[in-house]
Amino acid sequence: MKLVFATNNLNKLAEVQKMLPSSIQLLSLSDLNCFDEIEETETTLEGNAQLKANYITEKFGYNCFADDTGLEVESLNGNPGVYSARYAGTENNSEKNMQKLLSELKDKSNRKAQFRTAIALNLNNEQFLFEGICKGEILTKKQGEKGFGYDPVFKPNGFNNSFAEITSEEKNSISHRGNAIQQLIRFLIKNKT
Ligand code: IMP
Repeated sequence: MKLVFATNNLNKLAEVQKMLPSSIQLLSLSDLNCFDEIEETETTLEGNAQLKANYITEKFGYNCFADDTGLEVESLNGNPGVYSARYAGTENNSEKNMQKLLSELKDKSNRKAQFRTAIALNLNNEQFLFEGICKGEILTKKQGEKGFGYDPVFKPNGFNNSFAEITSEEKNSISHRGNAIQQLIRFLIKNKT
């Protein structure tokens, strides 16, 4: 079975392909020659994941899954959440996003936060949703050089280090996305056509 992962991130694609049986062949958006800017116009992570998966299934007819991730901070009422990429402006600048977050939390004692990933899967005319959560807290300053996005300011519970100080294998084993992907993979293996 061919299955589209609605992403342009080839690292993410390769990582998921490694965990799937060879009977499921993952295709990226560039494999479809799809270079469309799919705008994330919904107000929830689930909505945006569904929107991306539906766009591909409707336009190309393929089974497809898409993900969307947000950082939900308790004392900011769950923000930046679905707007995590655009928190400090439309250009998805991680440095600016982290600086804005640190400044919003400057006087807050509650620094609890969670990353949440929603995955929408369109499989044979049915839609399924998966969710992965990683709980932790926002540090008072950046720590570490690895990873991407908000990794340097997020410390997962049970660790003394930020996401940017641990290996990608360690991160994948406890992360929101890793968890959601594992659920998706178990589902695909069980229901594979
Ligand atoms: P996306 O849904 O993967 O495009 O991510 C939305 C926003 O959350 C972007 O600003 C990413 O940089 C950030 N983000 C997503 N996943 C992670 C992560 O695992 N660590 C840090 N930041 C992330």
